[in-house]
Amino acid sequence: MRESRVEAALKAAVEAEGGLAIKLASVNRRGLPDRLILLPGGRVDFIELKAPGKKPRILQARMHNRIRELGARVAVIDTLEKVAAWRAALCSDTVTHDLPQAFAAKIRKADQPDGCWEWQASKNKKGYGLFKMGDRAIGAHRASWMIHFGSIPDGSCVLHRCDNPPCVNPDHLFLGTINDNNQDMKAKGRYASGDGSGARKHPERLARGERHGWSTHPESLPRGESRKNARFTPAEVLEIRSMSAAGISQREIAKQFGASRSTVRQIIERKTWSHL
Ligand SMILES: [Zn+2]
Repeated sequence: MRESRVEAALKAAVEAEGGLAIKLASVNRRGLPDRLILLPGGRVDFIELKAPGKKPRILQARMHNRIRELGARVAVIDTLEKVAAWRAALCSDTVTHDLPQAFAAKIRKADQPDGCWEWQASKNKKGYGLFKMGDRAIGAHRASWMIHFGSIPDGSCVLHRCDNPPCVNPDHLFLGTINDNNQDMKAKGRYASGDGSGARKHPERLARGERHGWSTHPESLPRGESRKNARFTPAEVLEIRSMSAAGISQREIAKQFGASRSTVRQIIERKTWSHL
């Protein structure tokens, strides 16, 4: 894929946000980023576009550092995924500046250099750390990934090589799909499935047939635009499912998203948003 395709995707994303993507050229300054992005609300970003895998040249890297020292943002974007991640991050912008510091204050690093970094702040039932980002909490291992490597692609989970849920050492984390996560948890015996699942142990508790909510409350079936879930974005739906897969309770997820537990449960059980 060529740089021009990435550039076209960025331009489309900026225009969809109601902003301007201005091409930069200077007669006497070398290494300026390719585009100056102006967005509603006064946000200004510089973006260097590259073909996939290509790094900024030395003069460019130097100019990027100079711009960053002045407190402005420079992003290097080389794939369509990074365009999407950059756009997704626009809404969480306010928390990015002091994020690494707030995060570092909550970990205890092991004495040996390649040891686990134990999360010291709040944890969920399964031991995964919870990190407050803006007005909601996310898995601390996910926060670690974002701080060290950037955005997590839609539909991906952050998994542990070290099999230690409270660990947030970026070297111990890797990206997988939600399916990988379920397989991983099954392999590690953390997943109540098969005969261990609630549905097998207590089949009488499952509302089926005429007792099922679809029959007793047909009016509550979400349909079309009127359904409550219209206020979620696809990215949030995937986030909800991956939080659940990581062991965060439905109650906690509902709280963080300001949604009802039943809405969250329906998303997790794919009764809604089943196309994702
Ligand atoms: Zn670890």
